[in-house]
Amino acid sequence: MKLSANVLSELKRIVGAEGVLTSQTDLASYSYDGSCRWQSIPEAVVFARSADQISGVMKLAHDNYVPVTMRGAGTCISGGPIPVHGGIVLCTTRMDKILEIDKENLTVHVEAGVVLHDLNMELAKHRLFFPPDPQSFLAATIGGCVSEGAGGPYAVKYGVFKHYILGMRVVLADGTVLDLGGNTMKNVTGYDLPQLICGSEGTLCAIASVKLRLLPKPRASQTIMAAFKDITDAGRAVHSIGSGGVIPAKIELVDNWLIQRINDLGLVELPSDAEAVLIFELDGAEETIAKEAEMVIHLCKQAGSEFIRPAKDAKDAANLWMARRAAFSTIYGAAPTALAEDVVVPTSQIPTFIEKIKEIRSRYDLTIVIIGHAGDGNLHPTVLTDKNNAEHYSRAQKAVQDIFQTAIDLGGAISGEHGIGLEKRLFLRRAMQPEVILLLKQIKQAFDPRGILNPGKIWE
Ligand SMILES: Cc1cc2nc3c(=O)[nH]c(=O)nc-3n(C[C@H](O)[C@H](O)[C@H](O)COP(=O)(O)OP(=O)(O)OC[C@H]3O[C@@H](n4cnc5c(N)ncnc54)[C@H](O)[C@@H]3O)c2cc1C
Repeated sequence: MKLSANVLSELKRIVGAEGVLTSQTDLASYSYDGSCRWQSIPEAVVFARSADQISGVMKLAHDNYVPVTMRGAGTCISGGPIPVHGGIVLCTTRMDKILEIDKENLTVHVEAGVVLHDLNMELAKHRLFFPPDPQSFLAATIGGCVSEGAGGPYAVKYGVFKHYILGMRVVLADGTVLDLGGNTMKNVTGYDLPQLICGSEGTLCAIASVKLRLLPKPRASQTIMAAFKDITDAGRAVHSIGSGGVIPAKIELVDNWLIQRINDLGLVELPSDAEAVLIFELDGAEETIAKEAEMVIHLCKQAGSEFIRPAKDAKDAANLWMARRAAFSTIYGAAPTALAEDVVVPTSQIPTFIEKIKEIRSRYDLTIVIIGHAGDGNLHPTVLTDKNNAEHYSRAQKAVQDIFQTAIDLGGAISGEHGIGLEKRLFLRRAMQPEVILLLKQIKQAFDPRGILNPGKIWE
């Protein structure tokens, strides 16, 4: 659709002329997400600075049946912020104020555009801590993270975004501004709408601000690296540590392909002949950490690890974690197309799941990199391919379908944290009962009767 001159001038009136982009170069910049797998050009990119401005834009779009796709930093890798039906891309990145840190009640109120890393830098000054840590935290915004139900390595011990949401200010598709939830840890006043909105991928409403629960910063931490000759043994170690009664703050797994990339980066040296490395972080009181570290080392040895190295100091630990993050990004430069999947299984099924991924890799003769937040069963098997090579891409897509089906067969889910977006909508029918999909569509209809919010996603 083409936005009328009248709608464009109204947009400029609502957010100011500097808040509306329409040049072809600017529009192209907002036509992708972090995966670069899909592209669709919007008619206008609009930056709101307040809930009132979001409301004005929504009301205008609603009256004129214009699609609105919400956007934070655009680091999504399932196609969420791509405006597949054109219209307006509405960005909340300029709503970047930390409104209040309540040190007495351990809460923070933030605008949707606050970058996660900026929040944690500010909280650290008060010895406070917001644990959910998607590995895109240097750019990802609170609005995007809440919408995707994001999580990261800390999920093993501390959970994901949904476990920290107390309340939020949202704007409905018709411009109505609502305050949902509240300030307290417990709150059973009607249906829990903030939890419904968390993970709704911008299809139900715009998030203007969020009230989040905080924790005191742990007093100490210890990072440990354990190398395995057999990646399935690494999977076994993950499960035995959890069932052995130790809950590390993080357990990340990288396979040999990534070990080589990490060594190339030169930040740390991992055993290059290992099939997999697990990186653990333990945190809490020093005495407890020492005991838990002994247990982790013992259980890793029992599972077959012959090389275990605790980080020497804080810098060594920081380098290991930075290398883990950077290694994931290198996947995107390693092939013309990287299908970075996001599947989750019960932790007891990790060894079987890894075995099955290896079988799928051989069946389709592909490179499938295995990386993941193994401690909570969430793996990112990544298929390296080229969407312009029809034969190769078709094998890659079959492999991805098999990976999804295997996760479901093992009692898992087709997304742990990246969402359905454009990527998995065709698979949703296999992952959910038809009656459940119908109910989800009815909820969508109640929030957004004209279907203007992020159309073309999840089930469409
Ligand atoms: C290198 C890399 C590593 C990653 N690692 C992780 C990881 O460890 N864990 C993880 O969970 N994810 C990870 N991701 C995926 C991504 O970073 C997260 O989903 C993140 O939460 C997206 O935040 P964003 O601000 O970039 O949102 P965007 O990409 O801009 O948008 C994401 C979705 O949220 C909606 N949205 C954005 N802002 C709003 C708003 N204000 N109101 C309503 N809807 C909104 C959009 O419409 C879209 O559907 C990674 C991505 C990359 C590129």
